[in-house]
Amino acid sequence: MNFADLGLSDELLSAVSDAGYETPTPIQAQAIPQVLMGRDILGCAQTGTGKTASFTLPMIDILASGRARARMPRSLILAPTRELAAQVAQNFETYGKNSKLSMALLIGGTSMGDQMKIIDRGVDVLIATPGRLLDLFERGSLILRDVKILVIDEADRMMDMGFIPDVEKIVSLLPQIRQTLFFSATMATEIKKLADKFLMNPKEISV
Ligand code: AMP
Repeated sequence: MNFADLGLSDELLSAVSDAGYETPTPIQAQAIPQVLMGRDILGCAQTGTGKTASFTLPMIDILASGRARARMPRSLILAPTRELAAQVAQNFETYGKNSKLSMALLIGGTSMGDQMKIIDRGVDVLIATPGRLLDLFERGSLILRDVKILVIDEADRMMDMGFIPDVEKIVSLLPQIRQTLFFSATMATEIKKLADKFLMNPKEISV
């Protein structure tokens, strides 16, 4: 299996090759074609398996081929910590360098005012921790009705950190018709229940 077999665009294949990746990891090989087809994903994978690229790469292709309405966010990636959100943002920059997509990293420890300015200019992708996203939403500066793709990364850590009520609130603000990609290192009963609530007929992938 190589990247060219997964259905990604030439722009992305060139970004992947510039990143020095030669072959897709197992989660990438299994998830990327499914995400490109519009399928929900329930992925059981640890950090280090290449899971970030397994959702970021196909998401970039889907967004790049679609049309934005006044550049409202069309994708939301939730991560439990600032560090993880920043890592996802870094991956997004690397893989999306040939796309014209723009991104806002919404995490604590940086000025809400600056983040609001970036949002007001129009972004395609939001990468956020749940608390900061809700703070910004409550200030009225975020429009979430065009979000078509939701990623919940490290759901087990979200649960350990007590973020599930925030995540549920955020999901309730999103359109019901959307694609959801849900990742967790473990699939305890509570996580599975949560996944059942958010996902529709997901492809289950465990690596
Ligand atoms: P992740 O599990 O998403 O945190 O990724 C772990 C590390 O693997 C990151 O440093 C990625 O840059 C790297 N990586 C992801 N996919 C590949 C691949 N197909 N080949 C080589 N390295 C990769």
